[in-house]
Amino acid sequence: MRTWKDLQEIQPRVVPMLVSSIKKNRLTHAYLFEGEAGSGKMDVALQMAKSFFCKEQTGAEPCHRCVECKRIDHGNHPDIHRIAPDGASIKKEQIEFLQKEFAYRGMESASKVYVVSHVDKMTISAANSLLKFLEEPQGPTLALLLTEQGSQLLPTIRSRTQLFSFTPPSREAFAARLEEKGYSKQLAVLLAHIASNETEVAQINEGDWTSQARSVMLQLMQELYTRPEHAYVTLTDKWVPLLKERRQQELGLDMMFLWLKDLLYTQVGKQDGLIFASNQSQLEQLALSTSQLSVSQSMSKVMEARKQLNANVNIQLVMEKLLLTIREE
Ligand SMILES: [Zn+2]
Repeated sequence: MRTWKDLQEIQPRVVPMLVSSIKKNRLTHAYLFEGEAGSGKMDVALQMAKSFFCKEQTGAEPCHRCVECKRIDHGNHPDIHRIAPDGASIKKEQIEFLQKEFAYRGMESASKVYVVSHVDKMTISAANSLLKFLEEPQGPTLALLLTEQGSQLLPTIRSRTQLFSFTPPSREAFAARLEEKGYSKQLAVLLAHIASNETEVAQINEGDWTSQARSVMLQLMQELYTRPEHAYVTLTDKWVPLLKERRQQELGLDMMFLWLKDLLYTQVGKQDGLIFASNQSQLEQLALSTSQLSVSQSMSKVMEARKQLNANVNIQLVMEKLLLTIREE
């Protein structure tokens, strides 16, 4: 069960505006929620549907217990219709089916909600059908249109809806979502810091790359600070082979940067929210063996190395040079 308060943590700007409209009983009949995947558009839409149907709400907050709320939670409320692309697009027949369904259902219940995800994927004829629907609502209707690409939507549809732009999901929310999808906590947190969306995560993680890179990088840094002669073997045998593509090279350096940042945070006693939290004891041990100045200078070196990456770079040389400078700092 999510409350409006929970949702406000994810969308601190959008949610109070919606809550205020609900409290004042001033909902308009069509909303357009625009925002990245994972920004909470569907959660907010379903919560609005609950507030719309619940008869026992307190302020804007639905009771989450009544039959209306329960049916919404179970995804089988008869007066909520959800539409998503059938294959690559939302087709005219899908919108027409919705209209018929509502015309029929309307006899039993006056209020209706429809939620259309990826509304930008409507065919032109589907969009025209929807337009008619938006212009001639039959009875109290709440249309919730969701899109990741609002700019690709017909201006006629945009102009008939109230637009709410959702802010991109926070790293914490992104990591939590990755964990829900089955990634381990330590990997989810790291991925949430090096990737910006789930598509990118899937690309990066092909062949379990992130997990391997994470463990080799941890070994490399441990050796660099405790027995550097081993670090160069690990570099050649394990680290460089993982950095075949330019993107992997960037990610490899990003990971080193994030690890050094964790090391610095450990040195200054700021250990909440470490990205490599499962390696806290290693970080604590190494934090004592080097200075804060040295670690922050090493971070700059990693950033410099990242800037030097280009198509012709010899990654072995870049990494060797980098390890050498980190050792010297
Ligand atoms: Zn309720």
